[in-house]
Amino acid sequence: MTNRRDFLAVSAGLVLTPFLPGAAFAAGGATQVVGVYRRSVGDITVTALLDGFLKIDPKVLTGYDAATADKLLREAFLAAGPIDTSVNAYVVQTGGKTVLVDGGAATAFGPTLGKLGAALGAAGVKPEEVDEIFCTHLHPDHIGAFTTAEGAAAFPKAQLHVHEADAAFWGNDANFAKAGEMAQNFAKAAQRALAAYKDRTILVKDGATVAPGATVAHLPGHTPGHSGLMVASGDASMLLWADIVHVGPVQFQNPSWTIPFDVDQPLAAKTRAKTLDMAASDRLEVAGAHIDFPSFGYVAKAGAGYRFTPSRWDHQL
Ligand SMILES: [Zn+2]
Repeated sequence: MTNRRDFLAVSAGLVLTPFLPGAAFAAGGATQVVGVYRRSVGDITVTALLDGFLKIDPKVLTGYDAATADKLLREAFLAAGPIDTSVNAYVVQTGGKTVLVDGGAATAFGPTLGKLGAALGAAGVKPEEVDEIFCTHLHPDHIGAFTTAEGAAAFPKAQLHVHEADAAFWGNDANFAKAGEMAQNFAKAAQRALAAYKDRTILVKDGATVAPGATVAHLPGHTPGHSGLMVASGDASMLLWADIVHVGPVQFQNPSWTIPFDVDQPLAAKTRAKTLDMAASDRLEVAGAHIDFPSFGYVAKAGAGYRFTPSRWDHQL
């Protein structure tokens, strides 16, 4: 519980300081085209959908040190300072089912986000064709498109799968009675999504099946119920790991660095270490909600940490 209190205390002073949405965008930068990219995992199709980006300053990470970060950023040909960070969602098409994984930010963090609807349209998926929604966790950059502006379910036929620990944590106002404004707003957004799907919410645990070949992998820490989706068909598999890594250019090398949005930072760091080790040992392809779009790739051990190698462009599925 100490760790949760840390998050709630920290959140009182944060008010989105790590997220500086729209700075470059508002200055008149050209707009990128819609981001949609398909990969196959055996007989399953996984489509990455770009909702947009957030700016995250590596300085906000717990454990950050400037000399290490600046060296890594220089090696990655990036300037020091806030990094444009993708917010990705996915569609998984498996066994005749269409599964939406996460819902982007909609309007929660300004004009650089909220492109998921356009990306879904470009992918040829109509809202009424979505059978299942898998919500990796109830943070506002993962649930935005679940509801309409009026608060109704934007996917009229979909069931909402969410880990029971996330629904319990964000759904209970008592957890936020002494929290800062940001955490309270996060809880309100989560409750809005849960309310819209209240008659067709499926509370899941580790190992639950969301659709054929798509199972829940509980990866707790970032939030209590934070979960990935393991997608497997024949010999092929892929882990959609959600928020295991937020700031790839510095965090793969320094997996102990954690973002203040982690509800339980020590557990998030432990889960990240375990997940990176598993992905590297198993040579498992991964996809991350905040890895540069299209976000598919592999993790390998490198020195004291890891490196990320993007998957090659797929010319054919
Ligand atoms: Zn996130």
